[in-house]
Amino acid sequence: MRTVSINQTNSSLNEITTELGNNLDEVISWRRYLHQHPELSFEESETAKFIEEKLVSFGIDVKTNIGGNGLLGILTGNKPGKTIALRADFDALPINDEKEVPYKSQSPGVMHACGHDGHTAALLGTAQTLSKFKENLEGTIHFIFQPAEEKPPGGAKFMIEENVLEGVDFIFGAHLASEIPLGKVAVGEGFKMAAVDKFEIMIEGKGGHGAKPHESIDPIVIGSDIVSALQKIVSRKTDPLKSAVVTLGVFQSGNAFNVIPDTARLEGTVRTFDEEVRKNVKDQIYSIVEGITTGFQATYKIDYLFGYPALFNHKTETEVVKGLFEEAFNESAVIDLETSMGAEDFSYFLQEKPGTYFRVGAQNDNEATHYPHHHPRFDFDERALLHIEKAFVKIVSHYLF
Ligand code: MN
Repeated sequence: MRTVSINQTNSSLNEITTELGNNLDEVISWRRYLHQHPELSFEESETAKFIEEKLVSFGIDVKTNIGGNGLLGILTGNKPGKTIALRADFDALPINDEKEVPYKSQSPGVMHACGHDGHTAALLGTAQTLSKFKENLEGTIHFIFQPAEEKPPGGAKFMIEENVLEGVDFIFGAHLASEIPLGKVAVGEGFKMAAVDKFEIMIEGKGGHGAKPHESIDPIVIGSDIVSALQKIVSRKTDPLKSAVVTLGVFQSGNAFNVIPDTARLEGTVRTFDEEVRKNVKDQIYSIVEGITTGFQATYKIDYLFGYPALFNHKTETEVVKGLFEEAFNESAVIDLETSMGAEDFSYFLQEKPGTYFRVGAQNDNEATHYPHHHPRFDFDERALLHIEKAFVKIVSHYLF
């Protein structure tokens, strides 16, 4: 039985929101500290220590080294109820920070260029404030701090393998968005981000003199045919009502103008939503490479790696969250989440538990906040951190107050 009336719920929610506002400067200072001290995927041990220290100081139980550098903070309410998981990622990228700001990265070649510093600071801020309102909670909150989002196989998979989702009823995740104006939140159900797979093709031909091509097996010409044929997988071998991308990002071969080299190497990425399409693209790549290399008496080797699955936002929880955000912000603040061929390993969590992943606007009139994610000048309006916190608190209040 719920003993808290609607009015009590609203008044405690107001108190919590006020408290979040009061702590924003501190949360921003954490974000800036993390921004100055970024760490690459799978190497985030100092960031993990920082998170651990903060959670301990809030009186939250912490488990560390979950599937690598992952952490789980557990806040147990005074009464039993559901368990809600909130997730932030905390790795940085191999990019040199080119901004001129006091909180610029202090590690050359490493930068928080996707906003994960903001996600971490905002989830810490949410944990800090909610820890002061423990008596309002009917249930438990799991604060999941996940490393290595940027680098497949990613951190989510390993945290799940170590049972980080045990007992969790619903899970929610937020991402800052420099393409969305501050004050807006983007929500949407269904497949919203693509599955991301990677392949490498090695072509073994036979090198020789550039003047005697007939005595060689030219891996550059064979590779070119493969590049061109792979483009037809989407146009000729995929249901036109379904989506797929095949992009080749690497074609390496040769080093002299008059020499036919022995080998060529191609690398590419495949993006899909549908599992059947995903498998078909892989089969087509093998079939085309086999056909073309055999036709020209070359040999081949393919390394194919299935990466993150497509991200699927569950219908019921997405509708709930949409309604909550219309209350917490306002109706015009909630916009449709655009579907993207980008990828995100939060998809693993949503394969296990119902929930939704949303984006929080972080762009203002200043051009400094207009750079795309992963740009060496990427930055965002830090007031968006308060919006992430308000969104999380509103979700928690729905399920646990
Ligand atoms: Mn990201």
